[in-house]
Amino acid sequence: MAGIGIFETQIVTGVCPECDTKTLLVSFEPHVFKCVNCDAILEQKVNGVIKYVIADENTKLAMKNLNEEA
Ligand SMILES: [Zn+2]
Repeated sequence: MAGIGIFETQIVTGVCPECDTKTLLVSFEPHVFKCVNCDAILEQKVNGVIKYVIADENTKLAMKNLNEEA
């Protein structure tokens, strides 16, 4: 399991906004989840409530930057 870093992959249940199905969401980056049903990339927003939104290009860029800095 070396090379993963301090972040551990998490699998949670949630309703995917892309396919509107209660399914498993796999976290592969902090606050970023992937729907196992439709492969949509979702970003976890924490604004009093936690909800999943469809990740946009900005999220992908942020993820890329995180990877480069790791
Ligand atoms: Zn989905």
